[in-house]
Amino acid sequence: MKKSEIEALSAELPDELRDRVKLPIVLLRRRELGPGAFTLLGDEYEEYAFSKVLGDYAGTFTEFQKARDSPTVFYKPQVSELTREPRVAAEFQALGKAAGLVAGPQLRNMGTLGGNLCLDTRCTYYNQTYFWREALGFCLKKDGTRCHVVTTGKRCVAAHSSDVAPVLITLGAEVEIARGGERRSVPVEAFFVGDGIHNNVLEPGELVTRITVPAAARGLRAGYQKLRPRGAIDFPMLSIAFTARVAADGCQGATLVVSAIAAKPRTISGVEAIVSGRPLDDAVAEALGQAAYKQCHPLINVPYDQDYRREMVPVFVKRAVRMAREEWTA
Ligand SMILES: Cc1cc2nc3c(=O)[nH]c(=O)nc-3n(C[C@H](O)[C@H](O)[C@H](O)COP(=O)(O)OP(=O)(O)OC[C@H]3O[C@@H](n4cnc5c(N)ncnc54)[C@H](O)[C@@H]3O)c2cc1C
Ligand code: SF4
Repeated sequence: MKKSEIEALSAELPDELRDRVKLPIVLLRRRELGPGAFTLLGDEYEEYAFSKVLGDYAGTFTEFQKARDSPTVFYKPQVSELTREPRVAAEFQALGKAAGLVAGPQLRNMGTLGGNLCLDTRCTYYNQTYFWREALGFCLKKDGTRCHVVTTGKRCVAAHSSDVAPVLITLGAEVEIARGGERRSVPVEAFFVGDGIHNNVLEPGELVTRITVPAAARGLRAGYQKLRPRGAIDFPMLSIAFTARVAADGCQGATLVVSAIAAKPRTISGVEAIVSGRPLDDAVAEALGQAAYKQCHPLINVPYDQDYRREMVPVFVKRAVRMAREEWTA
């Protein structure tokens, strides 16, 4: 670069940052994470300087710091955007992976994240023609008085089937809900309720307008695994999302969510106690798998053998843990 060009670029930087930015600013192209993904070496000063010089950010350093520490917002609605968004590729790979496993390419390009979160639950006895359902006497979900999955049950247990939702739960994401000029936010975990007829907290007239992933989720190791008969398009018959905060002296927290077995994703209890202070090794993965196995009892709500799906719970938990471990060491 010519001296005049460097001077023109440095004029973009406020005076108070001049002696804090370490030069040279090094950028690494991350082809393995997709087009347009880079890792920037440095701190918030270098990040600000880089954004400023590129014309990517117009505000002051103080505003930049606030925005940097506030929740990360994904602003484009299509599911497929999550697979292309550079910040997801760089910091939330499991989220990008889950989005990339939703249905097929056409559906990901048209379907929205809001729609995916509000996706209706699925059941063998419900996703049928009217004639078929009538012959069976209908069911609790519509027009009938009994459930064919849990025949003594009083609640519909059709399966929650969004691939993205379990990962958002493990990241501590929030859903913004709007009606008219009113806004409220709930954690994604609290967004779902265990009733397959209407498995979320939306009231009539309310819309999902925003999903935010908190800045605190940065640096979490995350994995997502999905069991389905055909790799190209099918809904999950079991899905596992896992995150852990790993430090030099072992795990400092973790979340494990199992879904596609009931009307809402299930957050496995006792996970903190299993991982706390331990490395994310095979023994921990095995213990997590066993905890999930004990707590999960798939039903015949989707058309795949429930015993097989249960046996797959620990297998897929171990794969999710392995993914979380290897994603960050690769
Ligand atoms: C063949 C097939 C396979 C599929 N496989 C998978 C899969 O493997 N994994 C997976 O996760 N999904 C799968 N899907 C679901 C698909 O990804 C979703 O349908 C899509 O993400 C949502 O699409 P949409 O935005 O068009 O919402 P719609 O289908 O239009 O809406 C879904 C529901 O959400 C409501 N809704 C939509 N947007 C909002 C909003 N912003 N606020 C409040 N309510 C809203 C609608 O009223 C409706 O009740 C599959 C779908 C098909 C057809
Ligand atoms: S779980 Fe029961 S009530 Fe719900 S759709 Fe299936 S059969 Fe109907």
